[in-house]
Amino acid sequence: MDHEGLRHWSKRAADWAADYHAGLRDRPVRAPLVPGAIARQLPGVPPDAPEPMEAIWSDFETIIPGGMTHWQHPRFFAYFPANAAPASMLAEQLVNAMACNALIWQTSPAATEVEQVMVDWLRQAVGLPEEFVGTIHDSATNATLSAVLTMREKALGYRGLEEGLSGAPTLRFYASAETHTSVDKAIRVAGIGQRNLVKVATDKARAMTGAALAAAIAADRAAGLQPAGVILCAGGTSVGAFDRIGECIAVARSEGLPTHVDAAWAGSAMICPEFRALWAGIEGADSVVFNPHKWLGAQFDCSVQLLRDPGAQVRTLGLRPTYLETAGREEIVNFNEWTVPLGRRFRALKLWFVLRAYGLDGLRERIRNHVAWAQLARHALAALPGVEIVTEPRLSLFSFALASDAATEALLQRINDDGRIYLTQTRVDGRFAIRVQVGSFDCSKEDVMLIASTVQEMLASCSSESLSSR
Ligand code: PLP
Repeated sequence: MDHEGLRHWSKRAADWAADYHAGLRDRPVRAPLVPGAIARQLPGVPPDAPEPMEAIWSDFETIIPGGMTHWQHPRFFAYFPANAAPASMLAEQLVNAMACNALIWQTSPAATEVEQVMVDWLRQAVGLPEEFVGTIHDSATNATLSAVLTMREKALGYRGLEEGLSGAPTLRFYASAETHTSVDKAIRVAGIGQRNLVKVATDKARAMTGAALAAAIAADRAAGLQPAGVILCAGGTSVGAFDRIGECIAVARSEGLPTHVDAAWAGSAMICPEFRALWAGIEGADSVVFNPHKWLGAQFDCSVQLLRDPGAQVRTLGLRPTYLETAGREEIVNFNEWTVPLGRRFRALKLWFVLRAYGLDGLRERIRNHVAWAQLARHALAALPGVEIVTEPRLSLFSFALASDAATEALLQRINDDGRIYLTQTRVDGRFAIRVQVGSFDCSKEDVMLIASTVQEMLASCSSESLSSR
């Protein structure tokens, strides 16, 4: 295919996309397939001869959409959302057309400079102080890894980078068990070792408190271990837990420890001032990550890390060999020096389009609706016989269960096999619970109210021993 062919097929793709989105409500949210069902439809060997685009297109239509779980479906209430607002998709089309690698400023000045401005727009939007600057990663996992590597090197006086870790003191990091496993992964990949991630006990509200953090640090110091950093949870994946951010940051600071806050999901909600009490004290953090690709509509991938002072991270991750120099421009920002990968996509364009096309007010309205509708769904579910709310809504996330784990699991299976809505599970103090998060960009109140009516139908149609056994 050449570029004239691309012109033709892009128009066809745009039409297909519009029809796909218009028809999403008629599709099951979750792919109703067994493993291997798609792979079996593909030839086992690559073609030697070129194939006509008509044949490729036809196979796409026949095989792929039916094998997708539809993340943009208005009744996607599983995991967290990965919203792609239409304006974001448009920006991504343009980025695809230019297909740059924005590894340094010189390789696409617009990509770097739009990124700088968009990160600052977002900083203002979530209410962080002016001194914060930042960058866009592919994922919160990589942002957290970058933060952990930086905290490690700060603690080692930047010797780990040269000498490795074999002779280094044992470093200790602190987080609650409510934090996402991306924190565990970062600790493992950074050579800290899982055992040196202290899972600090939480209070009844599933929050790490300043007192519990202080006690954990004191115990380590007494044992001759070296505390190196604190990772705080602002909107945990399981049930939306928030640590006592301000309290914990105050403790970390008094101990001379840096902090990184994982607000991957909940950070987007902070564009609404009324939710900021949940992360009160955030302005004291050294690093904060949140994913506009979750709840803000800037499609995957787009994970923003805001840093009080990027110096330590750039010192940890930055390398500037001759082949990456830009002659006479030593002052420019090369964002690859802030992140683990060298190559980087032009991710800021979709933020520019989304923030302008909907405005902060439009985005706030969506998030406020989601939070309000989650409350309605919670009450409608609580009114059903046998249904118990396990955790109350945190922003737009809550969980519910039946009397036994087996009954709850069976109910979840039925709901997802039915396909009108898609929910996923967690464990709360060992109990199997069904998570509900409301956050799809295009969902309506009616879509959300379908959660309780679907559950009611599933309960009514279930045999008494499979769902109501105690
Ligand atoms: N942190 C939290 C709270 C999350 O919910 C997730 C993913 O859902 C992550 C981190 C990891 O995000 P990513 O997929 O961007 O690495």
